[in-house]
Amino acid sequence: MKDTAKHQGLRNQLVTVLEQKGITDKAVLDAVKKVPRHLFLNSSFEDYAYQDKAFPIGAGQTISQPYTVAYQSQLLEVKKDHKVLEIGTGSGYQTAILFAMGAKVYSVERQSELFKSTSILLPKLGIRPKHLSFGDGYKGLPNYAPFDSIIVTAGAPMIPKPLMAQLKVGGRLVIPVGEEGKPQIMNLLIRKNETQFEKHELGEFRFVPLLENKN
Ligand code: SAH
Repeated sequence: MKDTAKHQGLRNQLVTVLEQKGITDKAVLDAVKKVPRHLFLNSSFEDYAYQDKAFPIGAGQTISQPYTVAYQSQLLEVKKDHKVLEIGTGSGYQTAILFAMGAKVYSVERQSELFKSTSILLPKLGIRPKHLSFGDGYKGLPNYAPFDSIIVTAGAPMIPKPLMAQLKVGGRLVIPVGEEGKPQIMNLLIRKNETQFEKHELGEFRFVPLLENKN
């Protein structure tokens, strides 16, 4: 597992692409500059790792496109030491970006194969989320709540109530919402008080579906 000057050069180019596409949060751009995305992909994709594209990561899942990762991360308004819950650990790339931004990351994955491989990979790369969990992200992580922000990295048919309940007042939930097979609308929910949420519907994205546990 190597990270070379060539990879760093490709990451700098990717950051320029993200800036051109409208990403302005310096903490996000610095994290993209730092995290070796090629090490989160099967080596056969290594040459393409710094293109702004999604790729398969096994178990029928994908690593999100860098623009999508950056866009969602920017919407979270992560501050150092924020407690952030991620639903859909997948390859761990988004987890690594949040960690590089100084967040205390909690992440849930429902595919055992991906949960296992990513749990091994992250510490090897020096990435230490607070907690990786195997289970159904629809339920969130009530034992670790409340969170400063929550990011869902799969397309959900609706906004799960437990996730809203696990958000601090002032906290932000970023979740792509839409029917399966159609593009999703990025939703940003900001918790105003115990009972009220402000909702923003942003651009269209394409995600793999957030699946309910059938166990
Ligand atoms: N953040 C990931 C994106 C992976 S794709 C990355 O950067 O690579 C979405 C992930 O959500 C997949 O790994 C999928 O298995 C997972 N997922 C789908 N439904 C889920 C659920 N109900 N709970 C937790 N994870 C789920």
